[in-house]
Amino acid sequence: MEKFLVLTHVDESGAALTKASLEAVAAGVEMASAMGAPLTIGIVGAQSGAAANSVAGAGTRVLTVTGEEFSQPRYASDAAACEALCRAAEATLVFAPASSRFARVLPGVAQRLTGVADTHITAVAKGETLEASRWFYRQRVEAVVRREKRPWFLLLEAGTRAPWSAAEGQVQAETISVTLPALRTQVKGVRAPQQGEQTIRPDAKLLFVAGAGWTKKQADGQVHAVEAEELIRGFLRSADASLGSSKSLVDQSGENQAVLKFMSHLNQIGQTGSTPRHPKGLSTCCHGEEPHVVGWRFVGERRAISLDPNCGWARGKADVLYVADAFKVMAKVNELLANKS
Ligand SMILES: Cc1cc2nc3c(=O)[nH]c(=O)nc-3n(C[C@H](O)[C@H](O)[C@H](O)COP(=O)(O)OP(=O)(O)OC[C@H]3O[C@@H](n4cnc5c(N)ncnc54)[C@H](O)[C@@H]3O)c2cc1C
Repeated sequence: MEKFLVLTHVDESGAALTKASLEAVAAGVEMASAMGAPLTIGIVGAQSGAAANSVAGAGTRVLTVTGEEFSQPRYASDAAACEALCRAAEATLVFAPASSRFARVLPGVAQRLTGVADTHITAVAKGETLEASRWFYRQRVEAVVRREKRPWFLLLEAGTRAPWSAAEGQVQAETISVTLPALRTQVKGVRAPQQGEQTIRPDAKLLFVAGAGWTKKQADGQVHAVEAEELIRGFLRSADASLGSSKSLVDQSGENQAVLKFMSHLNQIGQTGSTPRHPKGLSTCCHGEEPHVVGWRFVGERRAISLDPNCGWARGKADVLYVADAFKVMAKVNELLANKS
């Protein structure tokens, strides 16, 4: 019989499970129930009391690996923790969030347990056995994967299902002891990108995309890059949106053209960029060509503002297209948002 284990880890506060971990818990609860298989939840973190209580409603066995060594991500300690949890749970099917912390560890853990790992899983379902879906070739081909080898580790993409939420309670978690190897890596601190308007926020409700039009000559024959920056930054600040870009815009910095300085290739959406998941997206000054729009595959509701009534967005790629000057539209939107707050 299959035995499910959901591996989770705490967030930066150290007290709560990450949202992606709670999504993995939701997947585990649903699939264990569908397949009539026992479920265990494993937690890695310096302390696990509050985190364990947050999954009380799942009514499952909870195993924890705790201690200062597990307060921060590190391959040696995390791999040892996950291996110990898998052995204690005798897991055959392991769900885990595809966080940077676990994504780099779990293929190695699968190797130690002579199992197999699959990454970028976007959906799981019960067929004759467990079936996992993932996309290949830049989200063009969707495959459904079944495997006979066990344990089978599935790294679940964040944002693909609602996180587990149920009333908290008291959980009697079992502590699993781990024999750590010599730890050569000491975590001295975290260097993260500056927080600000340029931030890419995967959990934001809105994706705001800027295209090359923001840096092109406008009706008065002039480029208005400074004004463009102010409008975009103003909107991101009030809407708490994530910032995306077309390839043309981020490529311009290498061509000595007027650029939006807070953009980098990390912001690029599309075939050779990212494919984020946001409930809504607003594209501005972007033509909506196929290599760009393919990155919008998972954006729920798409709107675009372009001067060109024949742009790609007008050809069935946007739910709503505003044929308008984005400078004027965003100035008005910012004004309305400022009055609202
Ligand atoms: C192999 C390959 C891979 C690629 N991968 C990607 C990718 O991953 N991501 C990506 O984005 N592109 C990608 N591209 C490039 C893509 O095909 C387009 O060239 C690019 O998306 C165009 O960017 P853009 O729409 O911002 O610029 P443009 O095509 O220059 O369009 C600018 C738009 O802004 C509008 N505009 C100008 N001023 C205003 C205004 N005031 N108000 C409103 N609208 C205005 C114009 O009407 C125009 O429609 C790829 C191309 C290839 C060949």
